[in-house]
Amino acid sequence: MVESGNLKMLKIFNCDFHVHTCLSPCAELDMHPGALVEQALNSKIDLIAVCDHNSSENVSYVIKAAFGKKIEILPGMEVTTKEEVHILAIFNFVSDLADMQRVVYNNLAGTNDENRFGIQAVVNENAEVEEINDKLLLGSVDLSLDEVISYIHKFNGIAVAAHIDRESFSVLSQLGFIDAGMNFDALEISAAMGIKEARARYNELGDYPFITSSDAHYIKDIGRAITKVLMEKPTLSELKMAFRKENGRQILE
Ligand SMILES: [Zn+2]
Ligand SMILES: [Zn+2]
Repeated sequence: MVESGNLKMLKIFNCDFHVHTCLSPCAELDMHPGALVEQALNSKIDLIAVCDHNSSENVSYVIKAAFGKKIEILPGMEVTTKEEVHILAIFNFVSDLADMQRVVYNNLAGTNDENRFGIQAVVNENAEVEEINDKLLLGSVDLSLDEVISYIHKFNGIAVAAHIDRESFSVLSQLGFIDAGMNFDALEISAAMGIKEARARYNELGDYPFITSSDAHYIKDIGRAITKVLMEKPTLSELKMAFRKENGRQILE
C-alpha cells in the first residue's frame, strides 16, 4: 500500500476508553485481564483504555493478554481528585502511566477495607493472582482537579472528565460547571445517556469533544457503549488529532 501525506487511509475504530479490571474494588473478580480482552474482542472493540481507580497495576497484564490479538490497549487510570471528581488519565506509554502512578500513590492515604469496598486483585494474563493491593483505591488523592490535569499533561496524556452526566463523582456534580480553564481534552458521557442526548442537554459545552464509554465493572458491560473514531491507526496521537478534527480525523457522533 502506498501512503503519502495526503493519501492516508482513515478507518473507523470502535473504542472503549473506560474499562475497569478486578483491581478496582467495585469491579467483579471475573474482570481479569484475559477475560476482559476476550470479551472486548467478542464485542468487536478495536481499542480499550484500562482505567482502574487510582491504580494501574493490572495494565501491563492486560497488554500481555492482548499480545498478538487484534486489539490495542492504552494505559490509563481513573483518578479521583480532592474534589471527588473522576478524571480519566490516558497515556501512550506504560512509562508515562508509571510516572502518573507515582504521583497518585504519593498523594493517596488510607488502607482498603475489603469487607466494605471489595477485593483489589492484581491478576496476570494467565488469571493468576499476583498480589492483593491494600491501598484505599476508592479514596481521593490529595491533589486538586487542576493539579491532576497538569500532571496528566506533563506526562503527555489526555485528561477526560469522566461521566459528566452522573450525579456523583463527576465534575458537574461536584463543581457545577466546566470551563476552558480546566483544560480537559474531552468529556465522557455515560452509557446511560449517550452522546446524542448529551449534545442536546449540554449545549454550552458544544466546543468539547464528547466520548462515551462502558465504564464496565462487570464483564457483561463491556461493549455497552462505544466511541467510533475515524483515524489512521489506534493510537493516542491519532486520538488527539481526532479531538482537534485534524486531517480528517474525528469522533463520529
Ligand atoms: Zn468514575
Ligand atoms: Zn470508572
